[in-house]
Amino acid sequence: MAKRVYLFNEGARDDRDLLGGKGANLCEMTRLGLPVPFGFIITTDTCREFFEAGNKLPSLLEQEYRVALDLVEKKMGARFGDPENPLLFSVRSGAPVSMPGMMNTILNLGLNDDIAEGLAKKTGNARFAYDSYRRFIQMFADVVLAVDAACFEKELERYKAEHGKSQDADMQADDWREIVECYKRLVEFPDDPFEQLKMAVQAVFLSWHTPRAVVYREMNNISDSQGTAVNVQAMVFGNFGDDSGSGVAFTRNPSTGERRFFGEFLFNAAGEDVVAGTRTPLPIEALQEKLPQVYDELYSTQALLEKHYRDMQDIEFTVQEGRFYMLQTRSGKRTGRASVKIAVEMVREGLISEREALMRVSPEHVEAFLHPMVDPAAKTDIVAQGLPASPGGATGQIVFCAEEAEEQSALGVPVILVRRETTPEDIHGMKVAAGILTELGGMTSHAAVVARGMGVCAITGCTDLSVNSEQGVATTNAGVELRRGDTITLDGTSGEVMLGDIAKTEASSSDDFQALLGWADKFRRLKVRANAETPDDAARARELGAEGIGLCRTEHMFFDAERIDVMRAMILAQTREERQQHLDALQVFQHTDLLEIFQVMDGLPVTVRLLDPPLHEFLPHTPEDIESLAERIGKSASQVRTLTESLSETNPMLGFRGCRLSVVYPEITAMQVKAIINAAADAADAGFRPFPEIMIPLVVNVREIRLITKIIDKCVRELTQARNISVPYRVGTMMETPRATLGASRLAPEVEFMSFGTNDLTQMTYGFSRDDAARFIPKYLGEKLIDVDPFVSLDRRAVGRLMEIAVRESRAVKKGIKYGVCGEHGGDPRSIRFFHDLGLHYVSCSPFRIPVARIAAAQASVGFDTND
Ligand code: PEP
Ligand code: MG
Repeated sequence: MAKRVYLFNEGARDDRDLLGGKGANLCEMTRLGLPVPFGFIITTDTCREFFEAGNKLPSLLEQEYRVALDLVEKKMGARFGDPENPLLFSVRSGAPVSMPGMMNTILNLGLNDDIAEGLAKKTGNARFAYDSYRRFIQMFADVVLAVDAACFEKELERYKAEHGKSQDADMQADDWREIVECYKRLVEFPDDPFEQLKMAVQAVFLSWHTPRAVVYREMNNISDSQGTAVNVQAMVFGNFGDDSGSGVAFTRNPSTGERRFFGEFLFNAAGEDVVAGTRTPLPIEALQEKLPQVYDELYSTQALLEKHYRDMQDIEFTVQEGRFYMLQTRSGKRTGRASVKIAVEMVREGLISEREALMRVSPEHVEAFLHPMVDPAAKTDIVAQGLPASPGGATGQIVFCAEEAEEQSALGVPVILVRRETTPEDIHGMKVAAGILTELGGMTSHAAVVARGMGVCAITGCTDLSVNSEQGVATTNAGVELRRGDTITLDGTSGEVMLGDIAKTEASSSDDFQALLGWADKFRRLKVRANAETPDDAARARELGAEGIGLCRTEHMFFDAERIDVMRAMILAQTREERQQHLDALQVFQHTDLLEIFQVMDGLPVTVRLLDPPLHEFLPHTPEDIESLAERIGKSASQVRTLTESLSETNPMLGFRGCRLSVVYPEITAMQVKAIINAAADAADAGFRPFPEIMIPLVVNVREIRLITKIIDKCVRELTQARNISVPYRVGTMMETPRATLGASRLAPEVEFMSFGTNDLTQMTYGFSRDDAARFIPKYLGEKLIDVDPFVSLDRRAVGRLMEIAVRESRAVKKGIKYGVCGEHGGDPRSIRFFHDLGLHYVSCSPFRIPVARIAAAQASVGFDTND
């Protein structure tokens, strides 16, 4: 039978899985000879056993922990349940991965009337004994017996009011004794300390399933199956008098990362008083003044622990009658900026290696250097929750249409553009908005993709809201009305919508951040390219470290107000000649942008994708817009309406789009190829080194590729002859239909690169519309029908399998193909790890994700074994 109970001198820091993080660290500190009140740990295996048996403790468990308890008694020189010389315990949860404050704790366990009286006698401090007793009753009732803590608070308030006491410090021994009597009338609890212990152990196990713990695990991707350990530890008392107290400290500043011991202390207080925030703690220097020896011991202990764990520690300690005790150490939670500073400085101090530093920083931490972030401590009035589509924080006044966004922001008013969903026509408003909030749309919807590309904070799929643009109001499920002009704050990193202006941290780079990125580049194998379609985006991408452009969605070049009408006129043209005339105009736009992009990306590859979206997406929808377009392009409204209707599709995402457009309108493709090659030739003439790659979207078979390659080659031949130039270019395909991936070996001979469009590939593998999935994905997640949104993190099982088949089978017939990913997953750290394992050459993501991708790619290379 596996051992279920471990004394603190029987474990070590590596036993986290079995003993939980807290328990493993208590053992480690005991091993280091630090003053840790002794105790024992019931294992996480026992917790799972408990759940498997239908929430029943194993029959032998009590016997096992009683043996341990005897040894603790010997060591502490006191006895559990003995009124003459009582020993009290704290009973705390402790999971393998830290979940601060999420589960239950019971302090002062082992008290009843006799023992409280005994404690008063033994300590000569009745006030302390009865204060501890009332705390115990309240905590036990709350945690074990599920009695609402508020009824105790009420009693206490009543008593204080009746007796003219304003603070706890005014309460004397007799007052606490009275309070205990009151409390006992509110709840029936077991007198027998062993019964108390058994019930407490059960309650801690059960707290693994409290809603807040479940939500925390979901948010932090912690497995549900781990379970918690139970730490049973001899109590020491910070509320024993003025030479006692409790404190928490960090070995470095957790918000800035500054290398300076940082902590808070409360005299004559239990640990819970510090954590609960009911009294304002003093800076740790107060302890130095009053109890200098204790401070010295604390200071050397924290230094030792940081050196030992080689990471910033968050410690809890207690001082009882001038004696120092360590209660907990764990790796401290920190802000993104602090995490980078600490990791980089620890390398410089020789504490950790560069590889370890990389593994210490979560890719999301990097966002704090790229976007303003909502201060977590300042968050209030959260009124709705949507999908975290584009990170960072933004505050502004609500507007409901793109035009208003432009007007207001021209007046210097920051705006949040609130839409039911966005379309290409909203781009001009999205560009100037501080943030974007949509009721519909998933993580790869238009709003999400465009906002991420622009680095604008966005929340999509906020189905908590019902947006009525005409009336200028968005109403939450709870009935809160967000009106035009109201100020709201979006947290695009968490998906929360808040009322008012919530504090944010500034974004700025730092030398430490640059150093870390430099190390990332040293270790990563995957290249990182950008999804960018404007020269500005390309320049920003290059600044952020892009090694090329992996996806230039050429349609985005036509969304500008002055260009979209030409595009529309081209789509609505009724003769070849008319269409050609508009295509010539479009070619000029495309040429101008591409020339600049090739210049910015000098020496690096630029993958230009042929036109992809359904043409209907470019056309106006409302009668007014149709009429005004008709006027602008010299057609009648009814003509425009009829043509628009003729292009409307039942299922546009599976309809007339992608390379199907090239098949039906080869002249559009020819225009694009001419723009690409001419721009590349002009860039080369100007002394730059352009490397254009022409990418064919939404391919399903090799014949499409052959047909389109023929158009491309013919165009290039004609141009190069006419201009007497030679432009090196490559032709490749997107891999975004399941059929393309399964038929990759047939596509391979015709292409030089394959770029996985994981947005469409996910959409078509699941049959989940990427624009509509937000309606049901939250429910799927809630019901655990899926673990993560497949549009956020790549589904390895099926989508990943299709990719793996495509790479393996195409490689078998042709060496030298370059493989990349240009779907939104290219910027997702978890997916990047998979792409690394798959042996792809590059990922391509929006410019602001590039640093995140560089770190994630390095982490994938370094792996999780950091003991080098
Ligand atoms: C994709 O489908 O993954 C992709 C990159 O193309 P788009 O998002 O433009 O459809
Ligand atoms: Mg696609």
